[in-house]
Amino acid sequence: RVKSDGRNGSCFFTPEMQARSARLIALGHALKQAQQRGELRLVYQPQLRLSEHRIFGAEALLRWDSPQWGAVSPAEFIPIAESSGLILSIGDWVLRTALRQVRHWLDRGLPDLVVAVNLSAVQFDQPDLPDRISRMLDEAGVPPHCLELELTEAAAMKTPETAAQKIQELHQRGIRLAIDDFGTGYSSLSYLKRFKIHKLKIDQSFVRDIDSDVDDQAIASAIIQMARSLSMGTIAEGVETAEQLAFLRASGCDDIQGYHFSRPLEPDAFEHFVLRDVGES
Ligand code: C2E
Ligand code: MG
Ligand code: MG
Ligand code: MG
Repeated sequence: RVKSDGRNGSCFFTPEMQARSARLIALGHALKQAQQRGELRLVYQPQLRLSEHRIFGAEALLRWDSPQWGAVSPAEFIPIAESSGLILSIGDWVLRTALRQVRHWLDRGLPDLVVAVNLSAVQFDQPDLPDRISRMLDEAGVPPHCLELELTEAAAMKTPETAAQKIQELHQRGIRLAIDDFGTGYSSLSYLKRFKIHKLKIDQSFVRDIDSDVDDQAIASAIIQMARSLSMGTIAEGVETAEQLAFLRASGCDDIQGYHFSRPLEPDAFEHFVLRDVGES
């Protein structure tokens, strides 16, 4: 019961709020066991290089199939994992699994692939992150340029003093870095100049209405121009239609990812998709 300063008394948690917090607590408990019980898996969404019409990589996206709760969206369980600290062990599992998968694909003769892995602020803040990742790359036998870390502006900017140093270290080790959901955070653009960032990921909120909304068109074009002047690449996420793709291509966007080209795929389906793509070109 929360006392409000309104004139007639107090407000209450509604039954919806109670149900919501009960679900969050229960999901948090279930998530603790999900990793050991093998309920987590990764799917891979192909990324297309427009100039070569070639799949050059994939974003690894986490999936949780809970026997109790069914398929839970990462948009719901990642924040729970972040606030409980569980994201550190889940994040390590994601990195190891994605790297092992790339090694497998390289062994199967797939052309050089870059796997993009999402990194939470909590993971990025680990002081030994560059060492940890280098060790995982060695263990998996994967060259560093096959890994791209996706970091949001907020995650990179949480601790700007140590972030610059860490990004520099990752860069020196040859690991690629992309800024995810670019344009939705609150941060100064000056970090783009100071940090070695390979790619800006144009957020899907700018892509959704890009064929009709002139503001979204202006924002997307400005991001693409700025990235190019600063020698960074661009990838647009959430591309669902041929019209969106046409606008992005005409604006000079390098790469795209979205349902128009492919949904996130199971590892075997991704392999077939790439091999078919290679066969056609
Ligand atoms: P994100 O990194 O921005 O990933 C893009 C999201 O857009 C994914 O949702 C993807 O499935 C979805 N998407 C891709 N193409 C389209 C499209 O054409 N249209 C629409 N409407 N959506 C599209 P998903 O897989 O549900 O992941 C949601 C978020 O959860 C991710 O956003 C990321 O922030 C987080 N996440 C996912 N996996 C991981 C992980 O392994 N670690 C961490 N820390 N976060 C993760
Ligand atoms: Mg991402
Ligand atoms: Mg994104
Ligand atoms: Mg997003």
